[in-house]
Amino acid sequence: MDLDGVLVNWHKGACHALGVPYPHEFVFQRDWICSVSGMPIGTVLTKLDSTPDFWSKLEPTLTAANLVRYLDTNFPDWGILTSATHNSASWAGKAEWVKTHLGTKGLHRLTICCGNKARFVSPSALLIDDTHKIVRDWLNGGGLAYHWIEYSDDQSALLQRQFESLTQYLDTFREN
Ligand SMILES: [Mg+2]
Repeated sequence: MDLDGVLVNWHKGACHALGVPYPHEFVFQRDWICSVSGMPIGTVLTKLDSTPDFWSKLEPTLTAANLVRYLDTNFPDWGILTSATHNSASWAGKAEWVKTHLGTKGLHRLTICCGNKARFVSPSALLIDDTHKIVRDWLNGGGLAYHWIEYSDDQSALLQRQFESLTQYLDTFREN
């Protein structure tokens, strides 16, 4: 399970930190923040890393709690796989976010990597991620994947429908 864009409302926090208006009915795409802020992704991430408590104070997405509850109930060995920048503020902030929202138990689920998530792929590993390229690389590496769409806050009906679609798909992997 990915953090940013799936469990964490990254774009909302990024918009706030960068002074960009948050679009309330929207489907976020990779690099959208670069085009609206006029900054390359490296500059965006450097600014976010230097924003105090940026990574730890991001809001959960509207479906995060239900997703976690579903996974805890049905797939107790599920894990979090998130990519961080090379700045320790990002690593520490993500760990703090997980501890705050998922407790110490959540920290045991957490894997933080820099860059290529596909190095963690295995034939039975199913990744839920909002970044198309990561999903494609995961599938090409031989794993299973679900491409989560990052809707903005005001699209709660679409988010809920997506949550139901995902859990229906995951139900097919349950043993009973
Ligand atoms: Mg993501």
